[in-house]
Amino acid sequence: MPIINNYDVKLENVLEALRERNASKILVQSPLGLRSVALKVGEILREEGFEVVFSSSNCWGGCDVAYTEANNANVDYILHLGHSRFLKRDKFPTAYIECRYANPAPVKSLIDKVVDAITGLKRVGVGASVQWLDFIPEVAELLKSRGVEPVTAEPDLFSVYNAQVLGCDVSALKKIEDYVDGFLVLGSVFHGLGVAVSTRKTVVAADPHSQQVKNLEQHREKILRQRFMQITAFKQSEKVGVLVSVKPGQMRLGIAKRLNKALNESGKKSFIVTADEITVSTIMENSFDGFVNTACPRLSLEDQATFGKPVLLPVEALVSVGYVDWVDVVEGGYLMYPWGWSSREIGEKIWRKLVQIPL
Ligand code: SF4
Repeated sequence: MPIINNYDVKLENVLEALRERNASKILVQSPLGLRSVALKVGEILREEGFEVVFSSSNCWGGCDVAYTEANNANVDYILHLGHSRFLKRDKFPTAYIECRYANPAPVKSLIDKVVDAITGLKRVGVGASVQWLDFIPEVAELLKSRGVEPVTAEPDLFSVYNAQVLGCDVSALKKIEDYVDGFLVLGSVFHGLGVAVSTRKTVVAADPHSQQVKNLEQHREKILRQRFMQITAFKQSEKVGVLVSVKPGQMRLGIAKRLNKALNESGKKSFIVTADEITVSTIMENSFDGFVNTACPRLSLEDQATFGKPVLLPVEALVSVGYVDWVDVVEGGYLMYPWGWSSREIGEKIWRKLVQIPL
């Protein structure tokens, strides 16, 4: 198992699978932060007799597998680095190498700061992005030794491992919300913030790379205030685009069609707009006054300041047309995913309304 740049790159099983399938041409796909790891993996594959093509497109998550590129490049396998499987089934033979961090030192060195940040919390839900998952047992033991009870759970949505957190899937933590006093997320502020906007409880993000430990309460309140301002601005929009991503794990055409219908019925001129990458130019150069984003929910949360026009999440669009109450969204913590995983009762209510909109 090679350790490359401190990442455990589990290649052996993949090499075996590639040989079993008589694969000879491999597309290596990776997020920008792992391109040097990808290059080394490509070199190893070539030494092992495979022909290698690198995808240089952005790769934002396990939702973003390069099926079309693989078809066009005429390869016979995709090797996707840096993410766990997101889609239940692949449309093209794909192997995932998660590249978990191999060295526990940057996690252990955070524990004093973490214990300070969670002072007063007795029971803490612990989650991590996939790179840090292997160290959860160690963190749990360290927390216990300081008198804190760690709690983990299985996810329900797109994550696949106990305690795993994705930018768009915090179900492993959300489901234990009533049982714990707060949450600790090992990973970046990005991962912690997904949890923070989905709960009213304390959320602390501990980033082993930057050695920063942050309570995200102020960050959460700022984001929620900004989202409400965007809903208010969107209400003034006359022409709106409902964005549908063509990325395999981000495409939600059914929801987009229902939102489009609800918006048209509310008096707006609404159209479906497809895109691969949703960027500032996607937003600014299309002449719509506002957008609804049915693709990655983090685009609306992270990039809104650069967009210059409101880019609402589906549930925010429903708030704008009076289907849903904003206070329920905030209190129920279902800003990113309104279809019932966080508050079944409210989720079912929204979902029923959406399903009842004939297409
Ligand atoms: S947060 Fe966005 S980019 Fe990341 S896995 Fe989810 S949909 Fe994909």
